[in-house]
Amino acid sequence: RSQKEAVQFFEPEIQAASYRALHIATALKRAVAKGELRLYYQPIVDPRTGDYEGVEALVRWQSAELGWVSPLDFIDIAENTGDIVAIGHHILREACNQVRRWQLQGRDIRVSVNVSPVQFGAPDFVASVAHCLQEAGLEADRLKLEITERLLLSSSETVRHKCEQLAKMGIRLAMDDFGTGYSSLSYLRDLPFDIVKIDQGFVRHMTRNSRDKALVRGIIDLAHQLGITVIAEGVEEHAQVELLTRFGCDLMQGYYFSKPVPADQLFSEKESSSCS
Ligand code: C2E
Ligand code: CA
Ligand code: CA
Ligand code: CA
Repeated sequence: RSQKEAVQFFEPEIQAASYRALHIATALKRAVAKGELRLYYQPIVDPRTGDYEGVEALVRWQSAELGWVSPLDFIDIAENTGDIVAIGHHILREACNQVRRWQLQGRDIRVSVNVSPVQFGAPDFVASVAHCLQEAGLEADRLKLEITERLLLSSSETVRHKCEQLAKMGIRLAMDDFGTGYSSLSYLRDLPFDIVKIDQGFVRHMTRNSRDKALVRGIIDLAHQLGITVIAEGVEEHAQVELLTRFGCDLMQGYYFSKPVPADQLFSEKESSSCS
């Protein structure tokens, strides 16, 4: 009896959540064709010079029916429906084209693109990346792919083989959200990652929490021992920049430097802020 009541009690909320998921899934099917998905770019900064080493492309969706929908709310739905493969390809293509446009304007930066494990798992993933680069006329070493540890839950020969093919092409591989998964270290052992991104969860409290501070420092040292570049994510405060610089962190990203912005605002913001 009590179980049934519990089910009834939760049902409206569960229903509301699944209706929303259904709405998202349906609207998302047409979002690419309707041009509703746009990329914003967040600078990845060399703290020693203030230069932009690159940018991370972050997808934004303004849906005619649903308004702004966060990627945190639609990426996993798109993964479940499989639409992430087409969406991810669209994002990759757009990011490569944009960086090529910047190159032609004399701005030589790299672009990082987030890759969903489902997209990575598609049989023609490596070929589709090669195609995007070729179509944009972009050199492979301008592209970084950010992969989360979730991918690697299915760590297998195929995953390793794909990573090696991408690395051989000259594409850099970044392990996103480093330290939040279960087997970060074995991935670093087995797969050809060039970059680790320290999750913002560690960076957030590092100036106040000595355990977080020790972990961040340890990750940086470990990565450097392996010849891996370190990017700290979610850097919001000057004190974090100072501490991370002291620990030898190579690159930083976060609101302290800039929020993600549309392509046409990326350099105008930088130039106006450095003039003032
Ligand atoms: P992520 O890859 O870890 O991206 C970093 C997130 O942190 C972004 O949220 C970014 O806007 C936010 N962020 C950047 N600096 C700061 C900061 O200083 N403080 C705080 N609090 N947050 C900061 P966003 O854009 O909402 O994306 C959320 C997640 O959605 C991403 O996490 C990524 O996992 C996924 N995502 C976003 N764009 C794409 C995409 O194009 N493809 C795929 N597959 N996933 C994406
Ligand atoms: Ca990322
Ligand atoms: Ca991340
Ligand atoms: Ca994250």
